[in-house]
Amino acid sequence: KYNEEMTQRKKLFNEVQEAKGNIRVFCRCRPLNKVEISAGCSTVVDFDAAKDGCLGILTSGSTKKSFRFDRVYTPKDDQVDVFADASSMAISVLDGYNVCIFAYGQTGTGKTFTMEGTEKNRGVNYRTLELLFKISKERSETFAYDISVSVFEVYNEQIRDLLATGPTSKRLEIKQASEGSHHVPGVVEAKVDTISEVWNVMQAGSNARAVGSNNINEHSSRSHCMLCIMVRAKNLMSGECTKSKLWLVDLAGSERLARTDVQGERLKEAQNINRSLSALGDVISALAAKSSHIPYRNSKLTHLLQDSLGGDSKTLMFVQISPSDQDVSETLSSLNFATRVRGVELGPVKKQIDTGELQKMKAMLEKARSECRIKD
Ligand code: ADP
Ligand code: MG
Repeated sequence: KYNEEMTQRKKLFNEVQEAKGNIRVFCRCRPLNKVEISAGCSTVVDFDAAKDGCLGILTSGSTKKSFRFDRVYTPKDDQVDVFADASSMAISVLDGYNVCIFAYGQTGTGKTFTMEGTEKNRGVNYRTLELLFKISKERSETFAYDISVSVFEVYNEQIRDLLATGPTSKRLEIKQASEGSHHVPGVVEAKVDTISEVWNVMQAGSNARAVGSNNINEHSSRSHCMLCIMVRAKNLMSGECTKSKLWLVDLAGSERLARTDVQGERLKEAQNINRSLSALGDVISALAAKSSHIPYRNSKLTHLLQDSLGGDSKTLMFVQISPSDQDVSETLSSLNFATRVRGVELGPVKKQIDTGELQKMKAMLEKARSECRIKD
């Protein structure tokens, strides 16, 4: 009975997904902060139609540019509101789906707040794991779940294992397994059974991130922090085993640096960030266009995420923005990037018939017809 219900649920879920596409974009705007308020900054974001997923940006003069996303969160919406919408996608990892949730935006717009949150105000990462444990317990008569986590940092196109202890001089590389999945050999996979273990693991990851950097805030804004949750599920009735991955990614700041300001190390960092964030945009656009070649290998970020971008995997992007007039050009650039990403489900490509498939069918029909004629 349980299996039947699961199959039914999965089917329904697939139908809903099919109708909506596999990519969601949620936009979240943080409140004006104290510094901005005392500096007399004004808000350029219009939330009048936020309930319908629309927001307006007041650009110079009286012009307003409108954007539409799957959800728009105003500065009043809290972590619970955000997780209420993100949770269904996150927990589909328990049903065998690969999922990728990431936060994109300018430094200081709330990427880390959304993903990690604070101890009092926990974000998507913690809430997701909490819910995964809860559901896996509820299903324990039918499924045996094994959950483990890895924490990576990608900085200057180099992967660092944040859970590795002791000196790690070895360069980490991405390898493809014979069944096609991607993994990083030698990386620590911490098995976790309870939420408190998870908290410890996450703390260890955060602490490791600080090691070797003079300014942790600056460093973390220039690297991608990637939490990978691996779920192995065994159906106790059928014996069927599945393996799936959920990536929770706090991306490097998307802001463009003024050319004149950057030299040396900073220039290299900036180029690597641009490269990986554009690569992410390119991969998603290529998926949208159903292109035969998806350029996953153009950056470590997209290469690592390969299993969880495309196919029947699910992607959720938070585009984080600042409300301040001082940030308006970065805000517009983030919203344009997000619009390009969301184009995947809005574009006409979904309804297009695969012409290759159509040609094949035509040929088969032609062949069948001619065979009939010969027989006549
Ligand atoms: P980022 O990771 O994008 O650089 P942070 O997550 O560090 O940005 O956010 C910058 C500051 O703004 C932090 O002090 C954070 O707590 C605060 N903040 C961000 N988003 C919100 C929000 N929605 N509500 C309240 N405070 C927020
Ligand atoms: Mg951050």
